[in-house]
Amino acid sequence: MKIPFISFDTINQEIEKESILAFQLFFNSQNYILGNELLNFENNYAKFLGVKHAIGVGSGLDALIIALQALGIQAQDEVIIPSHTYIATAMAVSRVGAKPILAEPNPQTYNIDAASIAKCLTDKTKAIIPVHLYGQPCQMDEIMNLADQHGIWIVEDNAQAQGATFAHKRTGSIGHVSATSFYPVKNLGAFGDGGMITTHDDLLAKKIISLRNYGSPQKHEHEIIGYNSRLDELQAALLNIKLKRLDRWNIERQKIADWYDILLVDNANIIKPFIAHDHVFHLYVIRHHKRNELQKYLEANGVRTLIHYPIPIHLQQAYRHLGYRRGDFPIAERLADEVLSLPLFIGMSKEQVAYVCDCIHRFDG
Ligand SMILES: *Cc1c(COP(=O)(O)O)cnc(C)c1O
Repeated sequence: MKIPFISFDTINQEIEKESILAFQLFFNSQNYILGNELLNFENNYAKFLGVKHAIGVGSGLDALIIALQALGIQAQDEVIIPSHTYIATAMAVSRVGAKPILAEPNPQTYNIDAASIAKCLTDKTKAIIPVHLYGQPCQMDEIMNLADQHGIWIVEDNAQAQGATFAHKRTGSIGHVSATSFYPVKNLGAFGDGGMITTHDDLLAKKIISLRNYGSPQKHEHEIIGYNSRLDELQAALLNIKLKRLDRWNIERQKIADWYDILLVDNANIIKPFIAHDHVFHLYVIRHHKRNELQKYLEANGVRTLIHYPIPIHLQQAYRHLGYRRGDFPIAERLADEVLSLPLFIGMSKEQVAYVCDCIHRFDG
């Protein structure tokens, strides 16, 4: 059996007719940037999250950068981020000239929490970026309390948790501002790059709307030096079609994760994902002390897996200047050595999940 890491076969089939129709409307509209499709999607996304403002941008990285800049984060400032996350979280902080401060994740949830964040606070700390990694919401009540006590901004990185909730609120609606990505493989993925910034704050929203479009609140007037980072009309039209289905698709992903949970239950060599809150499954990530061998074994048996992420931020060449060494972030390093993301996609069958699990058991047997 050959099992890809991800396949769009089922979802593409489901939305094909509607998408082609949307493309024709888009094509004929002769209005390809900052038009009604984007407004429509921004409204729908804001409603979905329960936020006042949703502002479409060019990518998840741009969403983080623009959110940080709108908050006034700049050189000399420190921003606390997880030591175990996608590199975009760190690069956004660096892009606005601030310094990323790495907090170790909770070894169970893989997310930073109030205790690990508190260890990193200094009088230069201006913001915290909790990342809802793999679809697991961070403990947002504690994190918001800590931020309120210290007068620090919270920028949620919701790229991996679209549709998740914490205490009946959607992730991405809890912090002062939030960034997400519509990179194709995310739970809500576009047909290209895209991102969204969400906030309840009117003033912040105004700044963000201006920043994404050359610092221009009004045509030919430029109040600040901005970006060209806009979610285009075609992506917005196609994302509108997918957004209606996101909750159902997340339930489907959960069902696949449940199969993994059951079929991997009596394997003592595997650490399965820990589910603390209203999780959505972006990735089904297991840990194994012989991860590299297991990955090779699965590959040889036709099962494609990925590692999120094999090199921690502090050991990346781009961050050499921070002067970190191996051993500085032991939890992040351990996760980088042990995590393995198993295939998980809409339309994956129980037989496919069973085959993956059989291969894993055979490797361990
Ligand atoms: C995907 C991702 C991003 C960046 O999104 P892009 O659209 O690829 O720029 C940021 N943070 C996390 C946690 C991500 O998974």
